[in-house]
Amino acid sequence: MAEINIMETIPDKMVIPLKQHNGDVCEPLVSKGEVVKVGQKIGECPSDRCAAIHSSVCGEVVSVEESSHPSGNRINSVVIQPVEETECEDFTPFKDSGREQLISVIKEAGIVENYGTPTHLVLNPPDCDIDTVLINATASEWVGHNYETPLEYASEMLDSLRLLMKAAGASRGAIVLRNDDEDSIDAFDGLDYEGKTIMVAPLIGKRRVGYYFNDQDTDIIVVSQDKIYGKNIFEYFTYNVTGRKVPFRCTPASVGVAICGVKSAKALNDLVNTGMPYIETVVTVSGQVNNPQRLLVKIGTSFKDVIEACGDYRGEPAKLISNGVITGVAQYDEEVPVTKMTTSIIVQDKDEVLKDISKDCIHCARCVDVCPVDLIPNRIAALSNQGRFDECRQMHIENCIECGRCSSVCPSKIHVMQLIQYSKEAIARADEDFSEKESSNIKLGCSCGSE
Ligand code: SF4
Ligand code: SF4
Repeated sequence: MAEINIMETIPDKMVIPLKQHNGDVCEPLVSKGEVVKVGQKIGECPSDRCAAIHSSVCGEVVSVEESSHPSGNRINSVVIQPVEETECEDFTPFKDSGREQLISVIKEAGIVENYGTPTHLVLNPPDCDIDTVLINATASEWVGHNYETPLEYASEMLDSLRLLMKAAGASRGAIVLRNDDEDSIDAFDGLDYEGKTIMVAPLIGKRRVGYYFNDQDTDIIVVSQDKIYGKNIFEYFTYNVTGRKVPFRCTPASVGVAICGVKSAKALNDLVNTGMPYIETVVTVSGQVNNPQRLLVKIGTSFKDVIEACGDYRGEPAKLISNGVITGVAQYDEEVPVTKMTTSIIVQDKDEVLKDISKDCIHCARCVDVCPVDLIPNRIAALSNQGRFDECRQMHIENCIECGRCSSVCPSKIHVMQLIQYSKEAIARADEDFSEKESSNIKLGCSCGSE
Protein backbone atom coordinates (compact mmCIF):
# COMPACT_ATOMS: atom_id res chain seq x y z
CA MET A 1 0.00 0.00 0.00
CA ALA A 2 1.47 3.33 -1.03
CA GLU A 3 2.51 5.43 1.94
CA ILE A 4 0.66 8.69 2.46
CA ASN A 5 2.38 11.61 4.17
CA ILE A 6 0.54 14.42 5.89
CA MET A 7 1.35 17.98 4.85
CA GLU A 8 2.08 19.54 8.24
CA THR A 9 3.03 23.08 7.18
CA ILE A 10 0.22 25.61 7.27
CA PRO A 11 0.42 27.95 4.26
CA ASP A 12 0.26 31.74 4.60
CA LYS A 13 -2.88 31.89 2.52
CA MET A 14 -5.69 29.46 1.74
CA VAL A 15 -8.09 29.96 -1.18
CA ILE A 16 -11.22 27.86 -0.80
CA PRO A 17 -13.35 27.92 -3.97
CA LEU A 18 -17.13 28.05 -3.45
CA LYS A 19 -17.51 25.54 -6.26
CA GLN A 20 -15.62 22.26 -6.07
CA HIS A 21 -18.18 20.07 -7.85
CA ASN A 22 -20.29 19.98 -11.02
CA GLY A 23 -23.32 22.13 -10.33
CA ASP A 24 -24.12 25.47 -8.76
CA VAL A 25 -21.69 27.79 -6.98
CA CYS A 26 -22.25 27.97 -3.21
CA GLU A 27 -23.31 31.21 -1.53
CA PRO A 28 -20.65 32.57 0.86
CA LEU A 29 -21.61 32.42 4.54
CA VAL A 30 -18.67 34.53 5.75
CA SER A 31 -17.27 37.94 4.91
CA LYS A 32 -14.01 39.88 5.26
CA GLY A 33 -12.74 40.11 8.84
CA GLU A 34 -14.63 37.12 10.23
CA VAL A 35 -12.68 34.44 12.08
CA VAL A 36 -13.39 30.85 11.01
CA LYS A 37 -12.66 27.49 12.62
CA VAL A 38 -11.60 24.18 11.10
CA GLY A 39 -14.69 22.50 9.66
CA GLN A 40 -16.90 25.60 9.80
CA LYS A 41 -19.37 25.80 6.93
CA ILE A 42 -18.42 28.78 4.74
CA GLY A 43 -20.47 28.02 1.60
CA GLU A 44 -24.19 27.22 1.52
CA CYS A 45 -25.88 25.23 -1.27
CA PRO A 46 -28.42 27.32 -3.20
CA SER A 47 -29.89 24.16 -4.79
CA ASP A 48 -29.73 20.39 -4.67
CA ARG A 49 -27.04 20.32 -7.42
CA CYS A 50 -24.41 21.41 -4.99
CA ALA A 51 -22.26 20.34 -2.03
CA ALA A 52 -21.52 22.60 0.96
CA ILE A 53 -18.05 24.08 1.46
CA HIS A 54 -16.14 24.15 4.77
CA SER A 55 -13.01 25.85 6.01
CA SER A 56 -10.03 23.51 6.30
CA VAL A 57 -8.13 25.86 8.63
CA CYS A 58 -8.54 28.31 11.51
CA GLY A 59 -8.00 31.90 10.52
CA GLU A 60 -9.32 35.25 9.40
CA VAL A 61 -11.25 35.78 6.17
CA VAL A 62 -9.21 38.23 4.10
CA SER A 63 -11.66 38.48 1.21
CA VAL A 64 -14.36 36.76 -0.77
CA GLU A 65 -13.41 37.23 -4.40
CA GLU A 66 -13.02 35.54 -7.76
CA SER A 67 -9.79 33.53 -7.89
CA SER A 68 -7.99 31.14 -10.22
CA HIS A 69 -9.41 27.62 -10.18
CA PRO A 70 -7.91 24.36 -11.51
CA SER A 71 -10.77 24.13 -14.04
CA GLY A 72 -9.27 27.16 -15.81
CA ASN A 73 -12.12 29.47 -14.77
CA ARG A 74 -12.21 32.13 -12.08
CA ILE A 75 -14.53 31.10 -9.25
CA ASN A 76 -15.82 33.03 -6.25
CA SER A 77 -13.61 31.90 -3.35
CA VAL A 78 -13.08 32.52 0.35
CA VAL A 79 -9.49 33.67 1.00
CA ILE A 80 -8.31 32.90 4.53
CA GLN A 81 -5.15 33.90 6.39
CA PRO A 82 -4.56 30.87 8.63
CA VAL A 83 -3.36 30.99 12.24
CA GLU A 84 -1.32 28.32 14.05
CA GLU A 85 -4.18 27.19 16.32
CA THR A 86 -6.44 24.44 15.06
CA GLU A 87 -9.67 25.20 16.86
CA CYS A 88 -12.37 22.98 15.37
CA GLU A 89 -16.11 23.20 15.10
CA ASP A 90 -17.90 20.76 17.39
CA PHE A 91 -18.26 17.75 15.12
CA THR A 92 -21.17 15.39 15.80
CA PRO A 93 -20.90 11.76 14.66
CA PHE A 94 -23.87 10.31 12.78
CA LYS A 95 -23.55 6.65 13.72
CA ASP A 96 -27.22 5.68 13.88
CA SER A 97 -28.54 7.77 11.02
CA GLY A 98 -31.27 6.45 8.79
CA ARG A 99 -31.20 6.72 5.01
CA GLU A 100 -32.70 10.19 4.67
CA GLN A 101 -30.50 11.67 7.36
CA LEU A 102 -27.41 10.13 5.75
CA ILE A 103 -28.21 11.72 2.39
CA SER A 104 -28.77 15.07 4.06
CA VAL A 105 -25.52 14.95 6.09
CA ILE A 106 -23.50 13.84 3.04
CA LYS A 107 -24.70 16.99 1.24
CA GLU A 108 -24.06 19.16 4.29
CA ALA A 109 -20.57 17.68 4.74
CA GLY A 110 -19.77 18.58 1.13
CA ILE A 111 -18.76 15.09 0.00
CA VAL A 112 -18.07 15.03 -3.73
CA GLU A 113 -16.87 12.35 -6.15
CA ASN A 114 -13.51 12.86 -7.90
CA TYR A 115 -15.37 13.28 -11.16
CA GLY A 116 -17.33 16.19 -9.70
CA THR A 117 -20.82 14.89 -8.95
CA PRO A 118 -21.92 15.54 -5.37
CA THR A 119 -22.11 12.14 -3.65
CA HIS A 120 -25.66 12.67 -2.35
CA LEU A 121 -26.85 12.92 -5.97
CA VAL A 122 -25.00 9.72 -6.93
CA LEU A 123 -26.64 7.84 -4.07
CA ASN A 124 -30.05 9.47 -4.31
CA PRO A 125 -30.53 10.45 -7.97
CA PRO A 126 -33.81 12.08 -8.97
CA ASP A 127 -36.29 9.65 -10.59
CA CYS A 128 -34.05 6.56 -10.24
CA ASP A 129 -33.79 3.77 -7.68
CA ILE A 130 -30.35 2.42 -6.85
CA ASP A 131 -30.03 -1.29 -6.12
CA THR A 132 -26.24 -1.72 -6.43
CA VAL A 133 -23.39 0.44 -5.11
CA LEU A 134 -19.89 0.02 -6.55
CA ILE A 135 -16.71 1.44 -5.04
CA ASN A 136 -14.28 1.90 -7.92
CA ALA A 137 -10.88 1.19 -6.38
CA THR A 138 -9.22 0.41 -9.72
CA ALA A 139 -7.77 3.89 -10.18
CA SER A 140 -6.27 4.43 -6.74
CA GLU A 141 -5.48 2.63 -3.55
CA TRP A 142 -7.29 3.27 -0.32
CA VAL A 143 -6.61 6.84 0.74
CA GLY A 144 -6.93 9.09 3.75
CA HIS A 145 -4.19 8.14 6.15
CA ASN A 146 -1.88 5.28 6.93
CA TYR A 147 -3.33 2.15 8.42
CA GLU A 148 -1.65 0.01 11.07
CA THR A 149 -2.48 -3.18 9.21
CA PRO A 150 -3.99 -4.13 5.83
CA LEU A 151 -6.82 -5.72 7.84
CA GLU A 152 -7.76 -2.34 9.28
CA TYR A 153 -7.76 -0.85 5.79
CA ALA A 154 -9.93 -3.55 4.28
CA SER A 155 -12.42 -3.62 7.17
CA GLU A 156 -12.91 0.14 7.04
CA MET A 157 -13.47 0.03 3.31
CA LEU A 158 -16.15 -2.63 3.75
CA ASP A 159 -17.79 -0.53 6.49
CA SER A 160 -17.81 2.39 4.05
CA LEU A 161 -19.49 0.25 1.42
CA ARG A 162 -22.16 -0.74 3.93
CA LEU A 163 -22.78 2.96 4.70
CA LEU A 164 -22.98 3.87 1.01
CA MET A 165 -25.51 1.05 0.48
CA LYS A 166 -27.58 2.31 3.39
CA ALA A 167 -27.56 5.87 2.05
CA ALA A 168 -28.54 4.66 -1.43
CA GLY A 169 -31.15 2.19 -0.19
CA ALA A 170 -29.26 -0.44 -2.21
CA SER A 171 -29.51 -4.16 -1.53
CA ARG A 172 -26.08 -5.06 -2.93
CA GLY A 173 -22.60 -3.57 -2.98
CA ALA A 174 -19.21 -4.41 -4.45
CA ILE A 175 -15.68 -3.11 -4.13
CA VAL A 176 -13.85 -3.29 -7.46
CA LEU A 177 -10.08 -3.70 -7.15
CA ARG A 178 -7.45 -3.69 -9.87
CA ASN A 179 -6.10 -7.08 -10.92
CA ASP A 180 -2.50 -5.97 -10.39
CA ASP A 181 -3.12 -4.27 -7.00
CA GLU A 182 -1.74 -7.20 -5.04
CA ASP A 183 -1.62 -5.34 -1.72
CA SER A 184 -5.33 -4.60 -1.80
CA ILE A 185 -6.21 -8.11 -2.98
CA ASP A 186 -4.13 -9.59 -0.14
CA ALA A 187 -5.82 -7.27 2.37
CA PHE A 188 -9.32 -8.43 1.42
CA ASP A 189 -8.84 -12.07 0.49
CA GLY A 190 -9.73 -14.33 3.41
CA LEU A 191 -10.94 -11.47 5.63
CA ASP A 192 -13.80 -12.35 7.98
CA TYR A 193 -16.51 -9.73 7.68
CA GLU A 194 -19.97 -9.94 9.24
CA GLY A 195 -19.53 -13.65 9.81
CA LYS A 196 -18.50 -14.46 6.23
CA THR A 197 -15.14 -14.90 4.56
CA ILE A 198 -14.39 -12.43 1.77
CA MET A 199 -13.04 -14.04 -1.40
CA VAL A 200 -11.75 -11.63 -4.05
CA ALA A 201 -13.32 -12.79 -7.31
CA PRO A 202 -11.95 -11.88 -10.76
CA LEU A 203 -14.42 -10.49 -13.30
CA ILE A 204 -13.94 -12.76 -16.30
CA GLY A 205 -16.19 -12.91 -19.35
CA LYS A 206 -19.79 -13.20 -18.21
CA ARG A 207 -18.85 -13.78 -14.59
CA ARG A 208 -19.85 -10.37 -13.36
CA VAL A 209 -20.98 -9.19 -9.94
CA GLY A 210 -24.46 -10.76 -10.30
CA TYR A 211 -22.85 -14.18 -10.66
CA TYR A 212 -20.70 -13.72 -7.54
CA PHE A 213 -23.52 -12.31 -5.39
CA ASN A 214 -25.39 -15.56 -6.04
CA ASP A 215 -22.35 -17.82 -5.93
CA GLN A 216 -21.12 -16.43 -2.60
CA ASP A 217 -24.69 -15.98 -1.28
CA THR A 218 -23.96 -12.52 0.12
CA ASP A 219 -24.90 -8.88 -0.47
CA ILE A 220 -21.32 -7.55 -0.27
CA ILE A 221 -18.52 -8.81 -2.49
CA VAL A 222 -15.03 -7.81 -3.57
CA VAL A 223 -14.06 -8.32 -7.20
CA SER A 224 -11.08 -7.43 -9.38
CA GLN A 225 -10.64 -6.37 -12.98
CA ASP A 226 -8.16 -4.59 -15.23
CA LYS A 227 -7.59 -0.90 -14.66
CA ILE A 228 -9.96 1.33 -16.60
CA TYR A 229 -9.11 4.97 -16.93
CA GLY A 230 -10.56 7.80 -18.94
CA LYS A 231 -12.88 10.73 -18.50
CA ASN A 232 -16.04 8.93 -19.45
CA ILE A 233 -15.69 5.48 -18.03
CA PHE A 234 -18.98 5.12 -16.22
CA GLU A 235 -21.09 3.41 -18.89
CA TYR A 236 -18.19 1.11 -19.74
CA PHE A 237 -17.39 0.42 -16.08
CA THR A 238 -21.05 -0.30 -15.28
CA TYR A 239 -21.32 -2.77 -18.15
CA ASN A 240 -18.02 -4.48 -17.36
CA VAL A 241 -18.87 -4.94 -13.70
CA THR A 242 -22.63 -5.55 -13.76
CA GLY A 243 -23.46 -6.45 -17.36
CA ARG A 244 -26.09 -3.66 -17.46
CA LYS A 245 -26.07 -1.41 -20.53
CA VAL A 246 -26.41 2.29 -19.78
CA PRO A 247 -28.54 3.99 -22.47
CA PHE A 248 -26.90 6.78 -24.50
CA ARG A 249 -26.70 10.09 -22.58
CA CYS A 250 -27.88 8.42 -19.36
CA THR A 251 -25.99 7.81 -16.14
CA PRO A 252 -25.42 4.46 -14.39
CA ALA A 253 -28.26 5.49 -12.06
CA SER A 254 -30.67 4.83 -14.93
CA VAL A 255 -29.86 1.11 -14.57
CA GLY A 256 -29.84 1.19 -10.77
CA VAL A 257 -26.08 1.56 -10.21
CA ALA A 258 -24.23 4.15 -8.08
CA ILE A 259 -20.45 4.43 -8.57
CA CYS A 260 -18.42 6.03 -5.79
CA GLY A 261 -14.69 6.50 -5.36
CA VAL A 262 -12.42 5.49 -2.52
CA LYS A 263 -12.07 9.11 -1.38
CA SER A 264 -15.79 9.71 -0.99
CA ALA A 265 -16.21 6.32 0.70
CA LYS A 266 -13.49 7.27 3.20
CA ALA A 267 -15.01 10.73 3.69
CA LEU A 268 -18.39 9.18 4.50
CA ASN A 269 -16.81 6.81 7.01
CA ASP A 270 -15.04 9.76 8.70
CA LEU A 271 -18.24 11.78 8.71
CA VAL A 272 -20.31 9.04 10.33
CA ASN A 273 -17.70 8.16 12.95
CA THR A 274 -16.30 11.61 13.79
CA GLY A 275 -18.63 14.17 12.19
CA MET A 276 -15.74 15.65 10.16
CA PRO A 277 -16.81 17.30 6.88
CA TYR A 278 -14.81 16.99 3.64
CA ILE A 279 -11.86 19.34 4.23
CA GLU A 280 -8.78 17.38 3.17
CA THR A 281 -7.80 15.13 0.31
CA VAL A 282 -4.91 12.97 -0.89
CA VAL A 283 -2.90 14.32 -3.83
CA THR A 284 -0.25 12.38 -5.74
CA VAL A 285 2.62 14.72 -6.65
CA SER A 286 4.95 13.43 -9.38
CA GLY A 287 7.35 14.50 -12.12
CA GLN A 288 9.97 17.20 -11.72
CA VAL A 289 9.82 17.73 -7.94
CA ASN A 290 12.58 16.80 -5.52
CA ASN A 291 10.47 14.51 -3.35
CA PRO A 292 7.53 13.00 -5.26
CA GLN A 293 4.99 11.53 -2.87
CA ARG A 294 1.33 11.11 -1.91
CA LEU A 295 0.29 13.86 0.47
CA LEU A 296 -2.79 14.43 2.62
CA VAL A 297 -3.49 18.10 1.92
CA LYS A 298 -5.97 20.62 3.32
CA ILE A 299 -8.41 21.77 0.65
CA GLY A 300 -7.55 25.33 -0.40
CA THR A 301 -3.75 24.85 -0.26
CA SER A 302 -2.14 26.22 -3.42
CA PHE A 303 -0.36 23.90 -5.88
CA LYS A 304 2.75 26.00 -5.21
CA ASP A 305 2.64 25.24 -1.47
CA VAL A 306 2.06 21.53 -2.15
CA ILE A 307 5.08 21.45 -4.47
CA GLU A 308 7.18 23.25 -1.84
CA ALA A 309 6.15 20.59 0.67
CA CYS A 310 7.54 18.05 -1.83
CA GLY A 311 10.98 19.65 -1.83
CA ASP A 312 10.16 22.22 -4.55
CA TYR A 313 10.68 21.98 -8.31
CA ARG A 314 13.59 19.96 -9.64
CA GLY A 315 15.08 22.27 -12.25
CA GLU A 316 13.04 24.67 -14.32
CA PRO A 317 9.35 23.70 -14.52
CA ALA A 318 7.69 24.00 -17.93
CA LYS A 319 4.20 22.67 -17.35
CA LEU A 320 1.93 21.94 -14.39
CA ILE A 321 -0.92 19.48 -14.93
CA SER A 322 -3.68 18.45 -12.57
CA ASN A 323 -5.38 15.04 -12.63
CA GLY A 324 -3.31 13.07 -15.15
CA VAL A 325 -1.19 13.69 -18.22
CA ILE A 326 -3.70 12.33 -20.72
CA THR A 327 -7.04 13.44 -19.35
CA GLY A 328 -6.01 16.24 -16.96
CA VAL A 329 -5.87 20.02 -17.26
CA ALA A 330 -2.70 22.09 -17.78
CA GLN A 331 -2.57 24.92 -15.24
CA TYR A 332 -1.78 28.51 -16.07
CA ASP A 333 -1.19 29.57 -12.46
CA GLU A 334 0.70 27.71 -9.71
CA GLU A 335 -1.42 29.58 -7.15
CA VAL A 336 -4.55 27.54 -8.05
CA PRO A 337 -5.87 25.72 -4.98
CA VAL A 338 -6.29 22.00 -4.33
CA THR A 339 -10.01 21.21 -4.47
CA LYS A 340 -12.13 18.14 -3.74
CA MET A 341 -11.64 17.11 -7.39
CA THR A 342 -7.83 17.28 -7.32
CA THR A 343 -6.24 13.84 -7.44
CA SER A 344 -2.76 14.57 -8.75
CA ILE A 345 -0.25 17.28 -9.63
CA ILE A 346 2.34 16.54 -12.32
CA VAL A 347 5.30 18.80 -13.06
CA GLN A 348 6.96 18.50 -16.47
CA ASP A 349 10.22 20.07 -17.63
CA LYS A 350 10.67 21.49 -21.11
CA ASP A 351 11.89 18.18 -22.56
CA GLU A 352 8.73 16.41 -21.45
CA VAL A 353 6.26 18.95 -22.75
CA LEU A 354 4.63 17.64 -25.89
CA LYS A 355 5.56 19.84 -28.84
CA ASP A 356 5.06 17.32 -31.60
CA ILE A 357 3.62 18.41 -34.91
CA SER A 358 0.97 16.06 -36.27
CA LYS A 359 1.73 14.31 -39.55
CA ASP A 360 -0.56 12.38 -41.90
CA CYS A 361 -2.15 9.15 -40.71
CA ILE A 362 -0.18 6.17 -41.99
CA HIS A 363 -3.06 3.76 -41.29
CA CYS A 364 -0.96 1.61 -39.00
CA ALA A 365 -4.07 0.79 -36.91
CA ARG A 366 -2.23 1.04 -33.62
CA CYS A 367 -5.04 3.23 -32.32
CA VAL A 368 -7.55 0.55 -33.31
CA ASP A 369 -5.56 -2.14 -31.51
CA VAL A 370 -5.47 -0.26 -28.20
CA CYS A 371 -9.02 1.13 -28.10
CA PRO A 372 -10.71 -0.58 -25.14
CA VAL A 373 -14.19 -0.10 -26.58
CA ASP A 374 -13.41 -1.38 -30.09
CA LEU A 375 -13.81 1.87 -32.00
CA ILE A 376 -11.89 2.85 -35.14
CA PRO A 377 -10.31 6.00 -33.72
CA ASN A 378 -8.38 7.08 -36.83
CA ARG A 379 -11.54 6.98 -38.96
CA ILE A 380 -13.66 8.84 -36.42
CA ALA A 381 -10.94 11.45 -35.94
CA ALA A 382 -10.72 12.00 -39.70
CA LEU A 383 -14.50 12.41 -39.96
CA SER A 384 -14.46 14.77 -37.00
CA ASN A 385 -11.72 16.84 -38.63
CA GLN A 386 -13.97 17.23 -41.67
CA GLY A 387 -17.03 18.15 -39.58
CA ARG A 388 -18.88 14.98 -40.63
CA PHE A 389 -20.48 14.53 -37.25
CA ASP A 390 -23.43 12.37 -38.36
CA GLU A 391 -20.97 9.82 -39.68
CA CYS A 392 -19.05 9.99 -36.39
CA ARG A 393 -22.31 9.14 -34.66
CA GLN A 394 -22.84 6.19 -37.01
CA MET A 395 -19.44 4.93 -35.91
CA HIS A 396 -20.60 4.96 -32.26
CA ILE A 397 -18.45 7.86 -31.17
CA GLU A 398 -20.53 8.08 -27.98
CA ASN A 399 -18.85 4.90 -26.73
CA CYS A 400 -15.44 6.61 -26.49
CA ILE A 401 -14.42 6.72 -22.82
CA GLU A 402 -11.76 9.40 -23.52
CA CYS A 403 -8.91 7.30 -22.20
CA GLY A 404 -6.34 8.83 -24.59
CA ARG A 405 -4.71 5.53 -25.54
CA CYS A 406 -5.21 6.24 -29.25
CA SER A 407 -3.36 9.57 -29.05
CA SER A 408 -0.56 8.16 -26.96
CA VAL A 409 0.30 5.31 -29.38
CA CYS A 410 -0.05 7.27 -32.60
CA PRO A 411 3.33 7.39 -34.40
CA SER A 412 2.09 10.36 -36.48
CA LYS A 413 1.35 12.28 -33.26
CA ILE A 414 -2.22 12.94 -34.35
CA HIS A 415 -4.41 14.35 -31.58
CA VAL A 416 -6.90 11.55 -32.08
CA MET A 417 -8.74 11.79 -28.75
CA GLN A 418 -8.99 15.58 -28.93
CA LEU A 419 -10.58 15.35 -32.39
CA ILE A 420 -13.03 12.80 -31.05
CA GLN A 421 -13.83 14.98 -28.02
CA TYR A 422 -14.44 17.92 -30.35
CA SER A 423 -16.93 15.93 -32.36
CA LYS A 424 -18.69 14.60 -29.25
CA GLU A 425 -19.16 18.13 -27.97
CA ALA A 426 -20.46 19.31 -31.34
CA ILE A 427 -22.99 16.46 -31.42
CA ALA A 428 -24.09 17.15 -27.84
CA ARG A 429 -24.54 20.86 -28.60
CA ALA A 430 -26.52 20.10 -31.75
CA ASP A 431 -28.82 17.79 -29.78
CA GLU A 432 -29.35 20.44 -27.12
CA ASP A 433 -30.20 23.09 -29.72
CA PHE A 434 -32.60 20.73 -31.41
CA SER A 435 -34.48 19.86 -28.23
CA GLU A 436 -34.84 23.47 -27.14
CA LYS A 437 -36.15 24.83 -30.44
CA GLU A 438 -39.84 25.49 -30.89
CA SER A 439 -41.57 23.97 -33.87
CA SER A 440 -41.28 26.29 -36.87
CA ASN A 441 -45.01 25.72 -37.46
CA ILE A 442 -45.77 27.37 -34.14
CA LYS A 443 -43.40 30.24 -34.86
CA LEU A 444 -45.07 30.96 -38.18
CA GLY A 445 -48.53 30.57 -36.74
CA CYS A 446 -49.21 27.73 -39.18
CA SER A 447 -52.29 25.72 -38.29
CA CYS A 448 -51.64 22.69 -40.54
CA GLY A 449 -52.82 19.58 -38.77
CA SER A 450 -54.15 21.48 -35.77
CA GLU A 451 -57.65 22.64 -34.89
S1 SF4 B 1 -11.24 6.27 -29.22
FE1 SF4 B 1 -9.28 6.68 -28.18
S2 SF4 B 1 -9.86 7.85 -26.37
FE2 SF4 B 1 -11.73 6.88 -27.15
S3 SF4 B 1 -11.91 4.97 -26.01
FE3 SF4 B 1 -10.83 4.48 -27.92
S4 SF4 B 1 -8.64 4.68 -27.40
FE4 SF4 B 1 -9.78 5.67 -25.74
S1 SF4 C 1 -2.24 5.26 -34.73
FE1 SF4 C 1 -2.16 7.25 -35.76
S2 SF4 C 1 -1.17 6.82 -37.73
FE2 SF4 C 1 -1.83 4.85 -36.88
S3 SF4 C 1 -3.90 4.54 -37.78
FE3 SF4 C 1 -4.19 5.52 -35.80
S4 SF4 C 1 -4.28 7.70 -36.31
FE4 SF4 C 1 -3.37 6.71 -38.07
